[in-house]
Amino acid sequence: MSAHKLVIIGSGPAGYTAALYAARADLAPVLYEGLQPGGQLTITTDVENFPGFPEGVIGPDLMERMKAQAARFGADIRPGFIQSVDFSERPFVLDDGEQKIEAEAVIVATGATAKLLGTKGEDHLMGYGVSACATCDAAFFRDVHVAVIGGGDSAMEEGDYLTKFANKVTIIHRREEFRASKIMLKRAQDNPKIEFLTNTVVDEMVSKDDNRRLAALKLRNTESGEATTMPIDGAFVAIGHKPNTEIFADKLDMNEKGYLVLGEGTRTNVEGVFAAGDVADAEYRQAITAAGTGCMAALDAERWLASQGIS
Ligand code: NAP
Repeated sequence: MSAHKLVIIGSGPAGYTAALYAARADLAPVLYEGLQPGGQLTITTDVENFPGFPEGVIGPDLMERMKAQAARFGADIRPGFIQSVDFSERPFVLDDGEQKIEAEAVIVATGATAKLLGTKGEDHLMGYGVSACATCDAAFFRDVHVAVIGGGDSAMEEGDYLTKFANKVTIIHRREEFRASKIMLKRAQDNPKIEFLTNTVVDEMVSKDDNRRLAALKLRNTESGEATTMPIDGAFVAIGHKPNTEIFADKLDMNEKGYLVLGEGTRTNVEGVFAAGDVADAEYRQAITAAGTGCMAALDAERWLASQGIS
């Protein structure tokens, strides 16, 4: 088994940008796409804030373009999911479940995944009226009443998007104040199809008798304690994300939320392992910042490899 100079784990804006830069630097990078090729942007529609697209761009199209650009310069883009890593000595060893591959340097760009409530019924009804992705599933909810759970930008964005299909959207938030930015909150508040239910939590997602299909939400007012049941056709959970760092537990430094903690630039605590994108960013979490750090990680990896006599 001969070691690759650089393996990139993950295929969002961070991974593809790292692959583009590394390929142009003649590092012949291998990129593993992971469980969601293209990353989170493949489950969004319009991206209006990626510079260079004044009319906006469709998320999956943007990712296809990034992939094609990296491939054009020779990046070896592979379907597959790295299941475990051994960073204890170099070359590092990565296992995709079918084979082990060696790498002199690694860029971790595994991103983050939507969080779920963990409420009763949620698991059972996921895909049966419950969803964590409005942009994937909204079209299944035409002319019905749906709920969005959350109070951040994601909840506002999903709520707004859902009104293209549903005839009524109720945004359910556990507090009175919203974490969402003013502009996103106002857009949702100004949407006549959206109503808000604050200080409210979902205690249970209930299915129809003898039918695996969401029928109602059992709600509780956090101030009065009053319990109510809201008949509903769909529920979209939009309560944030968690970083995809399980396979790096006890191997890479991470904070209490599981985000990788970086040293100088994109360096992790393991020499030769770099990180980019949402996996190490709980704060900005934008496609453009992920792409930017992907570029930085490739440059950091290139310079570090050169310092090891590998180019
Ligand atoms: P977020 O800002 O972390 O907000 C999560 C929301 O879910 C909060 O309101 C939180 O309530 C609520 N929540 C969390 N756990 C919950 C639970 N167990 N039960 C009930 N509610 C729960 O996450 P986000 O909305 O996904 O946004 C993440 C980042 O992406 C932000 O920086 C955001 O600006 C950005 N973003 C930007 C856009 C855009 O610009 N187009 C779109 C989407 C996201 P509390 O407030 O009470 O904690």
